[in-house]
Amino acid sequence: MFIFKKRKKISSDLLNQKNILKSLLYSMKEGVLITDLSGNIREMNLTFMNIFNLDPHTDYYNRPVSMVLQIPEIENIIATILAEKSGLIEEDLRLIDRKYLNIKASQFVTDENQMIGVLLVVNDVSRMKELEGMRRTFAANISHELRTPLTSIQGYVETILDGKVSDEKIQKKFLQVVYNQTTRLRSIIDDLMSLSKIENMSESGDLEMISGDIEEVVKAAILQCEEKAKQKKINISLMIIEKKKVKMNIRLLEQAVYNLLDNAIKFSKEESAVDVGVNILANELMVTVADHGSGILKKHHQRIFERFYMVDKARSRELGGSGLGLSIVKHIAQIHRGRVDVKSELDSGSEFIIYLPLG
Ligand code: ADP
Repeated sequence: MFIFKKRKKISSDLLNQKNILKSLLYSMKEGVLITDLSGNIREMNLTFMNIFNLDPHTDYYNRPVSMVLQIPEIENIIATILAEKSGLIEEDLRLIDRKYLNIKASQFVTDENQMIGVLLVVNDVSRMKELEGMRRTFAANISHELRTPLTSIQGYVETILDGKVSDEKIQKKFLQVVYNQTTRLRSIIDDLMSLSKIENMSESGDLEMISGDIEEVVKAAILQCEEKAKQKKINISLMIIEKKKVKMNIRLLEQAVYNLLDNAIKFSKEESAVDVGVNILANELMVTVADHGSGILKKHHQRIFERFYMVDKARSRELGGSGLGLSIVKHIAQIHRGRVDVKSELDSGSEFIIYLPLG
């Protein structure tokens, strides 16, 4: 009786252990594959199947890895481990479907250290690689955008210092260019700092969100642009059709509306009009900034919200743009769980709309 009981306990422990190991393998976020000494599949978890687009309902047990995966690089890794030419191999691999994988292969051994197969641990690092690429492009863009005005400043200052310009009027003209370029440098740096501040605040959750009045926000943004509008004799009108209080970060939302207004003024001719509207549509509050300016071709509509994207680089730089204004607007809208959209046609003006969810 006693022996029987003990036996039952041992077998249920074993069963438990086996289940725990299986669950552990299946809940891992790394792909795991175990082969035998002939390179046939003995164990494989769901993550591994997902990474290599294998059908989870097919039984791959005992099939050669080379036939199932058909990836020569992985075949080589397994063959090298099986031939005991190496105990551990780590390799980064790029598949044809643009997946980036980090592969670690080692001998699969018993507790007596005897090799019984190969253990393959695979991490899908595609997202990390994509972010790395984005960071690299961003850094290259920043360097390029900062270098252009700096080169120009250096050139003009050198000419003046060399004493090559004796005419006071021309000297003043050169200094004006230097001044404009430093203003542009400042605006790029201010926008970059804004972007990183917004990102940091939204990541750390340090963002103060209060129930605020959108009319106040829009009026404050218009007031900030008044001088620029006046210089181009542009009239800014405000039409509040319907409004409701929304949860917002007042300062950020004011900056978003300001950026849209600043663009509307920048890309409009003198004596033009800019119309700002507030309305409610379905479950969203809409803030619209419409101009009658140069307009934007449809093919650029999505790209203008990317960092540093400018439709006409030379013209935007001349107008003191950084190419960051709209990406800041997009970011601010997203922080508010909202979005930003554009409707525009070349030469017929543009309408930018910030949508904020109600409730
Ligand atoms: P920028 O600092 O160049 O204004 P933005 O990110 O604010 O950068 O805008 C990106 C680009 O989108 C601009 O360079 C311009 O080509 C286009 N754009 C933005 N707003 C308008 C507008 N109201 N009218 C015409 N083009 C616009």
